[in-house]
Amino acid sequence: MSLSEPAGNPMTEVDTLSSELASLQRQFSERKMKQEEFELLSTNLKERIARAEANAYVQARKNDTVARNLRLRNYNDPIIQQVLTHLLSVPTQALEPEFGAGRQPEYTVKSATGESMTVDQRILQRMADIRFVNETMFERMVFCPLCASPSKVYARFSCAHCGSIDISMSRMIEHLNCGTIHQEEAFRVGKSMICPTCKKLLQRPDEYRLIGLVCSCRACKAHFEDPTQGYFCRNCKHSFTLPTALVVDFYTYSLNKDTLEEARAHVGLNTLTEVLAAEGFEVKSPGLLAGTAKEVEFSVVLSKEGKIFAVDISQSDSEVDVEPLLQLYVKTLETKLTKAIFGAVPKLSNRARDMATFQGIAVAEGATISEVAHKIIEITKSS
Ligand SMILES: [Zn+2]
Ligand SMILES: [Zn+2]
Ligand SMILES: [Zn+2]
Repeated sequence: MSLSEPAGNPMTEVDTLSSELASLQRQFSERKMKQEEFELLSTNLKERIARAEANAYVQARKNDTVARNLRLRNYNDPIIQQVLTHLLSVPTQALEPEFGAGRQPEYTVKSATGESMTVDQRILQRMADIRFVNETMFERMVFCPLCASPSKVYARFSCAHCGSIDISMSRMIEHLNCGTIHQEEAFRVGKSMICPTCKKLLQRPDEYRLIGLVCSCRACKAHFEDPTQGYFCRNCKHSFTLPTALVVDFYTYSLNKDTLEEARAHVGLNTLTEVLAAEGFEVKSPGLLAGTAKEVEFSVVLSKEGKIFAVDISQSDSEVDVEPLLQLYVKTLETKLTKAIFGAVPKLSNRARDMATFQGIAVAEGATISEVAHKIIEITKSS
């Protein structure tokens, strides 16, 4: 595709292929297709879906509209919800990897109920592609090119002449006062450093300086300054160097300030809609209502027995302030509904609560989105 061509919606291809896959699965379940043919066609389709998806995420890096469309598709993904819930609870803290026994980095998030969950880095990477989060370089790691693991990779220093790892390395030190240059061992007397020439006791680090290394090979007896640096994987008994290594970068992930408000309004909506639908409401999310000039969008619109409720949601690490409440108020002026409800996790500021009372907006506060959902049900019963 040329650069001048508009991006369009790259997920259209994913949707088309996905519905092809669904119809293939239907044909197979109705026994209109042989197992072998089905497997071949579905593998091919799944590969094409994965490619189209990967392409969409690449485009999202360059195009804000594509990124936003992908975010809106992803708010209902349970894993992405967990990550966002975790980050929204500590918005100034980045999610850092922890390195366990296998030296494989792990990203752990805590759910609203406190359970820990490990998140695959590829998911975080995609969340960075579509600007849910910002990534910052954290660590660059050397993995074995054969087993693709860092668990048994060790740095190796070997003889520059014969390649043996049986080398001794000593630091060369200069006593600045008298100019003596010697191996570190010649200075060491127990825990102290004494100059082998002038016999002065070296008490401060600024009395001497490190000049470099001197190595000697026990195998070929060569002396040299710079040993050859490489790596060895104990799993595979494989020696390799930086150019042939598998080098993997790890990042920390923090909330993107530009999409923070959007996330606060969208996270947890699927929990909300599930709880409300189970109560017999007709639920639309996002919900549209006819307005005086154009249609007006709310986080959720509920209807039951001729009553219509419009709900907006906002979440904060401490308290939700007046801004999102004002937006809801303006929208209620343009539409006809039974009651407008503002859902806040974990609570509204006092200022915002006063404003809601004044504007006739019902407030549903709760530590979690499902608590908010149950408050909303109570409000609808008394309206
Ligand atoms: Zn290996
Ligand atoms: Zn050697
Ligand atoms: Zn000296």
